Amino acid sequence: MLVLVLNCGSSSVKFAVINTASKEALSSGLVENIGVNGHFKAKGPVDNQDYNFDCPTHAEAVSAVQKYLDDQNLTSSIEAIGHRVVHGGKYIRSEKVTQDVIDYIRSITLFAPLHEPAHATGMECAKKIFPTLPQVAVFDTAFHQTMPPKAYLYGIPYEYYEKDGIRRYGFHGTSHRFVSAEACRMLERNPDDTCLITAHLGNGSSCSAILNSECVDTTMGFTPLDGLVMGTRSGSIDPAILFFLAKKYGYDVDRLDKLVNKESGLLGLSGLSNDMRTITKAASEGHAGARIALDVFCFRLSRCIGGIAMSLPRIDALVFTGGIGENSAAVREQVLHNLQLLGYRVDTEKNSCNGKNTNGIISSDHTPLAMVIPTNEELLIALDTEALVR
Ligand code: ADP
Repeated sequence: MLVLVLNCGSSSVKFAVINTASKEALSSGLVENIGVNGHFKAKGPVDNQDYNFDCPTHAEAVSAVQKYLDDQNLTSSIEAIGHRVVHGGKYIRSEKVTQDVIDYIRSITLFAPLHEPAHATGMECAKKIFPTLPQVAVFDTAFHQTMPPKAYLYGIPYEYYEKDGIRRYGFHGTSHRFVSAEACRMLERNPDDTCLITAHLGNGSSCSAILNSECVDTTMGFTPLDGLVMGTRSGSIDPAILFFLAKKYGYDVDRLDKLVNKESGLLGLSGLSNDMRTITKAASEGHAGARIALDVFCFRLSRCIGGIAMSLPRIDALVFTGGIGENSAAVREQVLHNLQLLGYRVDTEKNSCNGKNTNGIISSDHTPLAMVIPTNEELLIALDTEALVR
């Protein structure tokens, strides 16, 4: 089945056409700067070109995708649309898109103010532009809904969970689910009897503990700000730091939000960049800020892996994925070195090839398994879509 996967963000629409049988993307691209000048870029079977469509709103962006797919002679073969949705609130699995689902996504706007309205609008536009195609919503949070209350509750008065839904939701669920299933397949293990830790490390990063294909703990929380140190996000900090800054500098909520979401993490620590390629290169050349940013990133990650490991009876494999997890041998080596207590030993050669030709394995023989597995969230969204519309 050909599935159009749409990821409608606040100012962008990413798309991919996935063939679920061959598992290949036939075409992909994005519309950026919606609301400004709407630049359209795409890669398809017919040509690779940049278009300049005027895309003032999501409706024009989705119609630009349709025009492009028409040019590629793909529109008539597409049988369904799968939407990536950041926050699923109550949903524990992917859902067919109905007006109730769209209304619910809009109703939880406060949980992810930039994303939820854009997702709901994207679904409404797609319904108008592709009226005959069934649509499915795939939620980043759904995979984490199997966590037990002891893992998802914060130590604040219980009434805020009951009244306002304040709890740990977790994110990147589609990626954690995809690579954990891949790990079982590659290691020829029974998914109902396998314990994994997955580390999705990109601009945003999170780790999950997965017991028999179900998530039992994860590092992101009520929002994607919790947990690991990231590109520009602080990850978990003592909340009293915010009170201190508010009192000392008179910072309001918006200023604090910007500080911890946009000015912190690798960028804030290094004073140089949020990009791990720049950080690792500068660290190896002796840049002190880059060195400390890299050390903090790897130490926090190791500490979180050690922490969530306690929710598993054993670890059958530790899986790295995402832009950093798949490509940065330096980060993986430092993290595995920090995890000596758990027995991890890196194989430098396998690690430097990102686990290619070694079935993803980057750990030394006869030591606990560490692997690199490329994620493919679009494919999983397409497969879920196919399963629900068939
Ligand atoms: P997103 O979370 O936006 O999907 P990605 O998963 O693409 O992001 O990851 C982006 C991160 O991956 C950036 O920090 C980038 O520097 C890092 N990255 C990509 N390639 C490499 C590489 N070869 N070495 C180190 N880091 C890399």
